[in-house]
Amino acid sequence: MHERSLVQNLLRQVEQIVAAEGGGQVAEICVQAGDLSGVEPLLFQMAFADMAPAVFSSSCQLALEVVPVTAVCSQCDHRFEIVDFQFRCPVCQAGSVQVLQGDEVKLISVTINSKHSIEGVAS
Ligand SMILES: [Zn+2]
Repeated sequence: MHERSLVQNLLRQVEQIVAAEGGGQVAEICVQAGDLSGVEPLLFQMAFADMAPAVFSSSCQLALEVVPVTAVCSQCDHRFEIVDFQFRCPVCQAGSVQVLQGDEVKLISVTINSKHSIEGVAS
């Protein structure tokens, strides 16, 4: 399953961020997935729910946002959204376009509850 490896990479990234922040419980992870990334939001959520508790507390939330694919025409520099995999400039009809966003899974933010605020103990 494609989503499981994506979630695995994501969890590894988050672990590194948490370690860099000095630890804590992860409350929420925000992820953007492009239309072209091939991510099925439901499968991604299921894979996350399955795999995250082994790494974080089970209360960790996943916010997944699917973003449209945008591209720029290499002939006339027109920027547009790609719908139904039509990689053709709507202005000049050129078939040579460059994808700007929408083909990747990006970690947008990680919300960490510090150990202190959870336990309410001053060290
Ligand atoms: Zn064009």
